[in-house]
Amino acid sequence: MTGAPMQPPLADLHCHLDLYPDHAAAIRECERDGVCALTVTTTPKAWPRNRDLTSSSRHVHAALGLHPQLVAERSSEIGLWQEYFSEARYIGEVGLDGGPRFYRSLDVQRQFFELVLRACAREGGKFITVHSVRCTKEVLDMIEKHLPARTARVVLHWFTGSKSEARRAVDMGCYFSVNADMLRKAQHRDLVASLPSDRVLTETDGPFTQTASRPARPSDVRAALESIAVCRGSDAGTVAAAVRTNLIRFLGDEAQAWAL
Ligand code: MN
Repeated sequence: MTGAPMQPPLADLHCHLDLYPDHAAAIRECERDGVCALTVTTTPKAWPRNRDLTSSSRHVHAALGLHPQLVAERSSEIGLWQEYFSEARYIGEVGLDGGPRFYRSLDVQRQFFELVLRACAREGGKFITVHSVRCTKEVLDMIEKHLPARTARVVLHWFTGSKSEARRAVDMGCYFSVNADMLRKAQHRDLVASLPSDRVLTETDGPFTQTASRPARPSDVRAALESIAVCRGSDAGTVAAAVRTNLIRFLGDEAQAWAL
């Protein structure tokens, strides 16, 4: 094997640490293993505990979200999301889901996502992790329309759009967080192979993905590095080094707050 060793810090830019049986232990594990983790929330009710548990963490930061799959049933929490918005530097999980179980709620999903993007544009300086299942074009249209002049930094999480949509997202300044599960499909391996290496980040989306037949944990992001390396004809150490550089560039002044 050639290239740099796969050394910490690793980067899990989209995981749900509050959905593990022991939330606090999952955060400690990231600190111990040197994994820079962005832990997203699916409802704003989960924000205070996530904020408090990560407030003194070197590597783990919490994002304020309302998952597109939950927006319809949790629309009463939109006010709460707005209430917490100013104190959150990171936003997610947000976006659109046009899959068979959720397309019926797309109208309310759109209304909320527009509200999120406009709030981020108004306040500036936010980092957003965006879900775009079966809605890639519309998600990009909305980002283009409501986040003028790149007023926020966007990571497209588990992106499965076309290559031309990926090129459009690159032109818009977006990054991509790639997990091992999405690379099981040849079509997605082909897509990830086509991404510019300076826009690739990694994620697990744990506990919603599996590693070795158990829910993935943030340090399992190594599996994503291995899979990305295979589909790009590289090696995991080289990909890890590129991801680290990309994360520092993506975070800008905020990188210090991640001990990077
Ligand atoms: Mn997720």
